Amino acid sequence: QVRVRFAPSPTGNLHVGGARTALFNYLFARSNGGKFVLRIEDTDLERSSKQSEEAVLRDLSWLGLDWDEGPDVGGDYGPYRQSERNSLYKQYAEKLLESGLVYRCFCSNEELEKMKEIAKLKQLPPVYTGKWATATDEEVQEELAKGTPYTYRFRVPKEGSLKINDLIRGEVSWNLDTLGDFVIMRSNGQPVYNFCVTVDDATMAISHVIRAEEHLPNTLRQALIYKALGFPMPSFAHVSLILAPDRSKLSKRHGATSVGQFKEMGYLPQAMVNYLALLGWGDGTENEFFTLEQLVEKFSISRVNKSGAIFDSTKLRWMNGQHLRALSSEKLINLIGEHWKNTGILVESEGSFIEEAVQLLKDGIDLVTDSDKALSNLLSYPLHATLVSPEGKTVVEDKLFEVSSRLLAAYDSGELLSALEEGPSGWQRWVKNFGKSLKRKGKSLFMPLRLLLTGKLHGPDIGSSVILLHKAGTCGVVSPEAG
Ligand code: GLU
Repeated sequence: QVRVRFAPSPTGNLHVGGARTALFNYLFARSNGGKFVLRIEDTDLERSSKQSEEAVLRDLSWLGLDWDEGPDVGGDYGPYRQSERNSLYKQYAEKLLESGLVYRCFCSNEELEKMKEIAKLKQLPPVYTGKWATATDEEVQEELAKGTPYTYRFRVPKEGSLKINDLIRGEVSWNLDTLGDFVIMRSNGQPVYNFCVTVDDATMAISHVIRAEEHLPNTLRQALIYKALGFPMPSFAHVSLILAPDRSKLSKRHGATSVGQFKEMGYLPQAMVNYLALLGWGDGTENEFFTLEQLVEKFSISRVNKSGAIFDSTKLRWMNGQHLRALSSEKLINLIGEHWKNTGILVESEGSFIEEAVQLLKDGIDLVTDSDKALSNLLSYPLHATLVSPEGKTVVEDKLFEVSSRLLAAYDSGELLSALEEGPSGWQRWVKNFGKSLKRKGKSLFMPLRLLLTGKLHGPDIGSSVILLHKAGTCGVVSPEAG
């Protein structure tokens, strides 16, 4: 059975890189009818925090990447926090000690430092050359009796190589002669990271380890530990880095990098998921729009690219627009209406105002939060004020005299307003008659009308804009600052 895991260290917010790793694991599990496990790697107690763990879980849920086993939902292979699995690590360390694959090393830090210096001078790899790899039982007993602190050191074969078949990178191999015996348990009894990960992956029956490329160097040690423990080796897939547009490693200085930040900025989870999937994966066609369900259907690890993927926030923004417009109008209206209420733009309003406004502005926005500015643009022309104030009248009369004087007459007589009250049909009737009386139609009618009524030369449908403006004046919209 396919069992994969996402194993975040709860030392900060969920980064887009982590989110993409989680997504690929999720897609791999779901597309193979397998299980997606969430494991919290909180062995670094200083840097780990409960808040970070909660934030990671919250952001994964927001993205819709639900897990089958994890610290909150439990499962048959728990506990799912490394900090709660210490006894297991000890147990396996003892087992390896008994079988001789691991030995006690009583070297002090000073001795180890010295070895390193000598190796450096001789231009040799910094491998362990201490005596404890070959010490006799008596020598060990002697130190134990003295109470000398010791670490558990893994016995690495002195020659040969190790290779894995990475599902993304192909064959990767390492020479063993430069590795040296490494520590798996510190003298204070704390197991080291690579040991924990291996024991966890092995005992959680993980079939495929899909993780970031930066962990590739760890894979050598982990594979050796796997073999020593006698567990079948999982398959590995190392996903390439996410790069900034300048091809440096994506970091905070490039702007938002955490999922939570994008959520705050008004991004939709569907768009995030879609965009993250495209960072290194494609279905082989030109198509770039995918829902999570479609991704599950199409995803294949063999199509994941091994070169670095560039994080392009402009494209993510564009993608969000695609997903925004793919929502049902009811959902979109609720989303934007909710946003306007939260930001105080709408105090109260009849539903149809929101509906009409959303219809008008939706094609011009990429983010829910763009709707503020779009609305303010729609409403920024003081229709009533301009047409009734003496200064407004002069401006209008000077510029577009013929149309404007008739328009003013229509406004003063109340004819225009009552037509607007009636909505689209009223407006259409009015504008038709208005054009007739001026012997104007098409552009020569609509351009000056648009300018006079909305203050702009371009924009969405003029009738709908004017009706919306009229409504805004009568139904409690706090007109946002003109953008
Ligand atoms: N805890 C590691 C990280 O957050 C992941 C380790 C792994 O996937 O093996 O980078």
